Amino acid sequence: MAPDLYEVLGVDRKASDEEIKKAYRRLARENHPDRNPGDEAAEERFKEIQGAYDTLSDSEKRRQYDAGGAFDPRNVAGGFASDIGDIFSTFFNRGRGGGGEEVRGRDLRAAVSLTFDQAMKGAEVAVTVPKHATCGTCAGSGAKPGTAPVVCPRCGGRGVDQQSQGFFSISQPCPQCGGRGEVIEEECPTCQGSGLTVQRKRYRVNVPPGVHDGSRIRVAGKGEDGPLGGPPGDLYVEVSVAPSPVFEQRPDGNLEVRVPITIPEAVNGATVEVPTLNGTKRIRVPAGTEHGTVQRLRGEGPPDPSGRGKRDIHYRLEIEIPKDLSREGKRAVDELAKAMNGHNPRERILGSSMATAGEENIQS
Ligand SMILES: [Zn+2]
Ligand SMILES: [Zn+2]
Repeated sequence: MAPDLYEVLGVDRKASDEEIKKAYRRLARENHPDRNPGDEAAEERFKEIQGAYDTLSDSEKRRQYDAGGAFDPRNVAGGFASDIGDIFSTFFNRGRGGGGEEVRGRDLRAAVSLTFDQAMKGAEVAVTVPKHATCGTCAGSGAKPGTAPVVCPRCGGRGVDQQSQGFFSISQPCPQCGGRGEVIEEECPTCQGSGLTVQRKRYRVNVPPGVHDGSRIRVAGKGEDGPLGGPPGDLYVEVSVAPSPVFEQRPDGNLEVRVPITIPEAVNGATVEVPTLNGTKRIRVPAGTEHGTVQRLRGEGPPDPSGRGKRDIHYRLEIEIPKDLSREGKRAVDELAKAMNGHNPRERILGSSMATAGEENIQS
């Protein structure tokens, strides 16, 4: 059974974000693999703590978890699925003895909405994200301004506590400093010693032209700052594109336009004017065009966001059936019916036996 995430962090279900962060930082330090070499149980606990923090520190994930469904990162599309894995690899791939607690800041998400025009031409958009960022009061040290963290009096800065019991010598992280080797005597009043505060940050993000609805743009290093000087995470900006009344974004990146044509245009052929992203162009409708035929203008679509040339526009020709014909129009259709002289286009989809059965039904 999955452990209760609040129990993992040892906090109340009503714990504030700040309380959760404090509990996480303390436990992450205590169970950090660098502090517990070869201790697999500690490594397991460490992963659990990371996982619990990942969910409970994100208001959306926490809400989902509280609502009863365990938050499953795989349900989130794209780059977020690997967040937890990334945090682990950051921890475990790091060389031993690097000192300090290099905890990478979490990745963040933001959403922007673009008009169709902006999506085609590219845009610079502002996004505002609330995030944990380095505390401005203490510059991230966690110590009250004018004071500095001091060498831990218990362990003398070594970060480990050694006790001899008979034959054994037991090493464990120093309980007073949590293994950091230094302690804050007077906490920074702004961040209560964490070195981070929640701040609203505003970034300008360049969205490349041709971006598709649902695309994600990674802004490196603009996620949350790492606690106590750790490297920052990334910011992922999810782009939604307002639909255009004319152009439809196809999954393959090309655009599609539905082009109504009249019955005479379909029968006789015509040259018709169609919209492009920069005005209009003319395309040929061949004589005898079927409903749904697609004509394509190469290179008239939006740029490929990865910079490989331009996409196409597909024009889907749709024969429009008039619903409110004049008396003259109705007469013309009657004339056409007469001229077609009983032609039955269904013959080619009905077998001869079926056709006979049909005739019998008409007679009876
Ligand atoms: Zn501070
Ligand atoms: Zn200590």
